[in-house]
Amino acid sequence: AEVTTLLLSRIRDIPDHPEPGVMFKDITPLLADPVAFTALTDALADLVVRHGATKIVGLEARGFILGAPVAVRSGVGFVPVRKAGKLPGATLGQAYDLEYGSAEIEVHAEDLSRDDRVMVIDDVLATGGTAEASVQLIRRAGAEIAGVSVLMELGFLGGRARLEPALEGAPLEAL
Ligand code: 5GP
Repeated sequence: AEVTTLLLSRIRDIPDHPEPGVMFKDITPLLADPVAFTALTDALADLVVRHGATKIVGLEARGFILGAPVAVRSGVGFVPVRKAGKLPGATLGQAYDLEYGSAEIEVHAEDLSRDDRVMVIDDVLATGGTAEASVQLIRRAGAEIAGVSVLMELGFLGGRARLEPALEGAPLEAL
């Protein structure tokens, strides 16, 4: 509970970003505070260990910032999931629907193996579309899902309900 209070106190609300009517949750104050950033890293690393994950998949871009220190702390590898067109090698891609239009993410499938149990890490779960597509992508790459862990879930956007069928019982945890 103390950690939750600390983390919440370092998240800043930015109105009308990236467009009018959206209240953006900005995590840069948390990243700038070494006590809060360490507490977040430790809490996520606990989940990685508890769920027996062997790899972390971080979602571009803030999932990279959070996922990388968690991977080092928990002694597992890190694999980036990126927006289409960014990864240089052979990729596996997954398209998904946005409110208006669609998007696509990619992974280097060869960095995941059939023996891997993957923890997906991102900062914010909003509509759940990005996390859902990531889970589908990781499964298609042959790996198992250990869970999805985020700093914050925006409950009013219904992301949990969208993501849950894809999780097939794996845990979704929001700190
Ligand atoms: P979703 O696919 O769940 O709708 O959106 C999640 C993605 O958008 C995440 O990668 C997350 O970083 C980003 N995102 C959406 N809303 C916010 C927000 O209010 N704050 C931050 N930091 N990221 C957000």
